Amino acid sequence: MNINKRVIVIGAGASGYFAAIRIKELCPTSEVVIMEKTGKTLAKLRISGGGRCNVTHDVTGNAKLLEHYPRGRNFLKKVFYRWGVSDTRDWFEKNGVELKVEEDGRIFPVSDSSETVAQLLEWKAKKLGVELMLNSSVVTIVPMPKDGFYRWQINTNTSGNEMATDVVMAMGGFPKLSQYNMISSLGIEIVTPVPSLFTFNINETTLHDLHGVSVVDAKVKLVGYPESYNGPLMVTHWGISGPSVLKTSAWAARWLNEKAYLNTVLVSWVNLSEEELRQQLNENIRSNTKKMISNLGMDGVPKRLWDFILSRAQTPVSKQSADLSKYEFNKIVENVIRMPFEVDGKTTFKEEFVTAGGISLTSVDSNTMAIKSQQGLYATGEVLDIDGVTGGFNFQAAWSTAAILAEAIAKQ
Ligand SMILES: Cc1cc2nc3c(=O)[nH]c(=O)nc-3n(C[C@H](O)[C@H](O)[C@H](O)COP(=O)(O)OP(=O)(O)OC[C@H]3O[C@@H](n4cnc5c(N)ncnc54)[C@H](O)[C@@H]3O)c2cc1C
Repeated sequence: MNINKRVIVIGAGASGYFAAIRIKELCPTSEVVIMEKTGKTLAKLRISGGGRCNVTHDVTGNAKLLEHYPRGRNFLKKVFYRWGVSDTRDWFEKNGVELKVEEDGRIFPVSDSSETVAQLLEWKAKKLGVELMLNSSVVTIVPMPKDGFYRWQINTNTSGNEMATDVVMAMGGFPKLSQYNMISSLGIEIVTPVPSLFTFNINETTLHDLHGVSVVDAKVKLVGYPESYNGPLMVTHWGISGPSVLKTSAWAARWLNEKAYLNTVLVSWVNLSEEELRQQLNENIRSNTKKMISNLGMDGVPKRLWDFILSRAQTPVSKQSADLSKYEFNKIVENVIRMPFEVDGKTTFKEEFVTAGGISLTSVDSNTMAIKSQQGLYATGEVLDIDGVTGGFNFQAAWSTAAILAEAIAKQ
């Protein structure tokens, strides 16, 4: 076969694998090599989605899809237009991975196992002739003189040097700015990385005692931050977690980092306005005057949580509903919709977590995923300053950016 290009993909994660496969699908005459610094492929994908791999999300229309990206929204407009959720679903289904949509819109393989997705990517890459070099940590990407066939030399600290016409950076995110030196030394701007998608630590034993309690539609508001976020919330051994907290951590990732993860958070345990709550509580009291306040309860609020709310409101649980003072009533309302907690740190536990920051999108052409200042150099996935909230959005960005650059490389 007459090889017309030699592409080196740095990183055997979701975006690197998908880029390599799509390049070979669209341009079978190219030689494609994946270089991976560890001895394993697709390590993150395998543990993703609690071992089930949340491949993407069922969203109608790109405008809705874009709402789930705290960083990269504008940039992704063009990218998703070219490769969106339906393209991802079609590709996996056509290649034999049956997918299912869960009630909340998350899409998983029917097998409920990330292994199904990993094995497809590995099998497909092998079948198409993608070469895999494990234990090959790339240390420098060096541009070659302009008139030669190869535009890049890739140096590793383990397996010598490789020459390439095109290079795809698919190294994922890193916690420290210094870990991007290989990229920034090429004159590419890096947005300082900070973590995104984490749970809040709250040092309050009485809250920890509620661990396991959850509500379906809480509202989380960081004091001083303009927005609040809704969704399920869970009490953990160390604080609060669940989609509403993860969403808050994603949108406020940089803001919270500047505050060293110390801030007051207000939790509304129900999705009601203050007026609606007052009305509901009043009606409930009126029709249950003889009931102990502890037994009065509230729709959507588990009993253990209700007692916690009463204790925070300094209202004796044995009090009869009819005897509730105005002060106590107001305190209960306050603690149902604005219960304050002091956040003193963050935890990433089992859940999806990602890096906010990375290659600045001003350096990248959204039509091709090429680095504007460097011919034949591309970037995909989490190494870019793109990240989504939890729910399959980070993988969707990885599949889409990889698909776009594969098209561009194949067309050259
Ligand atoms: C626990 C967990 C669960 C998650 N669950 C989900 C989910 O269900 N849905 C979702 O959408 N997202 C999920 N995510 C996020 C998602 O996994 C990532 O956004 C996605 O894996 C990014 O893919 P990537 O290929 O860009 O990077 P990665 O998957 O991080 O792959 C990068 C690869 O590059 C290699 N590498 C790095 N530097 C070098 C170098 N110098 N030389 C050679 N190789 C190098 C790394 O070893 C790694 O193998 C989860 C994340 C975590 C941590």
